[in-house]
Amino acid sequence: MVESFDAGGVACHVLVDGGRTVSPRFVFRGYDDDVQGPFVRPYLDAEGKLAGRFAALLIESADGHVLIDAGLGPFAGPLDGGRVRQELEILGVQPWDIRTVIITHGHADHVGGLLGPRKEPAFPDARHVIHRAEADFWASEDAGELPDDAGGPAIAALHALLQADLLDVIGGDLEVAAGVRAIEAPGHTPGHLAVVVNDGLLWAGDAVISQLNVPHPEWVSAADMDGAANEATRRALLARAADHGLVLAASHLPVAGSIVRDGDGYVLVER
Ligand SMILES: [Zn+2]
Repeated sequence: MVESFDAGGVACHVLVDGGRTVSPRFVFRGYDDDVQGPFVRPYLDAEGKLAGRFAALLIESADGHVLIDAGLGPFAGPLDGGRVRQELEILGVQPWDIRTVIITHGHADHVGGLLGPRKEPAFPDARHVIHRAEADFWASEDAGELPDDAGGPAIAALHALLQADLLDVIGGDLEVAAGVRAIEAPGHTPGHLAVVVNDGLLWAGDAVISQLNVPHPEWVSAADMDGAANEATRRALLARAADHGLVLAASHLPVAGSIVRDGDGYVLVER
C-alpha cells in the first residue's frame, strides 16, 4: 500500500524503501535520558527503540514524474531497504518514466538506488538535480575519507551521472519542474535540499529526522554534519509549514501532518 498525498491537485506518493528501529541515543547527539526521556518514552517500542523508515517520494508533476531520492538500492546489505524500484512498479511507473530526480543529499539511504546493478544510472532519462555545495562535498577528499566507506555510494553515483551527462548542479532555490520547488536546507549535510510541492506539501528530507524534532527543533541529530545550521534550517522549515499550511513529510518520519506553533516548538497534527 503506497501512501499518497494530494498537493493542491498534484499527486505525491511515498515510496517506502525499508525500515529500521533505532535507539534514541543513536538518533539524538548527546542524548540525556533524564532531560529527554520523558518526551521520548511514549514513542519507544518494547525494546526501547524509535521506529523509523527509509523513504523516497514520487511527484506526478505536469512536467513528468519527479523522484526525490532513490533509497538504498544495492547498498542495502543487511539493512531492510532497497524497495523503491518495486514501489514504483506497484504504481505502474518504469525507471525511464522519471524525468527529474532531486537528490536531497549524499547519504547512502538516499543515493544508493541511483545506480543499477551494473553501476549504470537507474533512471536513464532523468536529469538529476543536486545543490552545488553537496556535489562539491562528495567530490572532496573529506568524503573519500569517511569511516566505513560512507561516501562510497554518493561518489559512485555522482561520478556515473556526470559521465552520462545527467547531473544538474544548482546554486540555490529553484523550481525544477512545474509546481516542484527545491529549496536550500543546509546543516544535515552542506548542500541538503528540501522540496515544496505546489504550496501543499513540504518534504523535509533529513532536516527533520524524527517526529520528536517537531516539538523539539533544538534536538540535534547524531548524523548532522553541522547541528547548529540544521537547527536553524529545521526552525525555518517548520515555520514555513505552519505559516503556509503545508503538510510536512520527510524521509524517516513514520507520520505526516500539518504543523501548528506551540511555544518554542510545534505540534504535528496527523492527517
Ligand atoms: Zn537519511
